[in-house]
Amino acid sequence: MAEQTSLRSSRGSGASPKPQAAGPSTSASKSSFGKKTIALVYDFDGTLSPRPMQEYTFLPKIGEDPKTFWRECNRIAREQEADPLITYMHLMYQKAKARNVRIDRADLVALGRDVELFPGVEAWFGEIAEYIRIRAESQGVALRHYLISSGLVEIIEGTRIRPHFHNVFASEYWFEAYDLPYPKRVITDTGKTQYLFRINKGIESLGQSINEHMPEDARPIPFSNMIYFGDGDTDVPSMAVMRKNGGHAIAVHTPGKSRTKCVDLFKAGRCDFFAPADYRRGSELFRRTTLLIDRILANIRLEEEAWRLRRGIERKGAD
Ligand SMILES: [Mg+2]
Repeated sequence: MAEQTSLRSSRGSGASPKPQAAGPSTSASKSSFGKKTIALVYDFDGTLSPRPMQEYTFLPKIGEDPKTFWRECNRIAREQEADPLITYMHLMYQKAKARNVRIDRADLVALGRDVELFPGVEAWFGEIAEYIRIRAESQGVALRHYLISSGLVEIIEGTRIRPHFHNVFASEYWFEAYDLPYPKRVITDTGKTQYLFRINKGIESLGQSINEHMPEDARPIPFSNMIYFGDGDTDVPSMAVMRKNGGHAIAVHTPGKSRTKCVDLFKAGRCDFFAPADYRRGSELFRRTTLLIDRILANIRLEEEAWRLRRGIERKGAD
């Protein structure tokens, strides 16, 4: 069990949690109100970490200047009309090979250890769990953290914060490709939204189809129990899905750097709030996140009360 149990212990188990294949919990037939899980969903690059994760170790290891690398990626993607993410995943290994640097899966995981995080990120998971534990006023409220990133599963696996996530959805390689590692999964900006629905429907096993219709009532984590954290244009589809479905979104920017992008997102109605990416207790981000959590907790209590009423009526009849 991962972070959903953290309302009692502020730390994750340390082991990588298994993807949940939990089926939907239905409403009135159950003996307790089931929609009490809060999900905080994060983008990684620029949201939890200041720079794209490849810049900390992979690119230096193959002797690439990040600016030159991304410029080349963008040029090739444009000229070839290629997907920019497939282009970067391919180019990283093409260059490693050209320089005779071998980087296998274990090496990528090891590279994750040096990825930089914004201030307070490591303590954040425990602090938020503590905040909810004190204020829930309802038994059984659970908290989960999820990561949805265009970056690499392997690098994220090596970061210090991996154990805090209930599940991580990110791009990934097939390493047994005959020549260069081959993209196994590529998570594009719009593709990210699929994973929001997986969390919403409780269909987190990637072998299962997400497209089958599931009535709102049967979805274990309503969007109204979710907050999405992102930092820019690549998060617009996810923020739009969240907001259109009654969920919440917060935009962040590097502390001390321009907040123009966040202001644009805020003015366009993409996010409820924005704040510098300072995750320490007492920061603007902490305060605005907990405001939304207060609202989610109040909503859970309201929904639970209405559920009890409906259940009573079903059992005893309307008279
Ligand atoms: Mg980002």
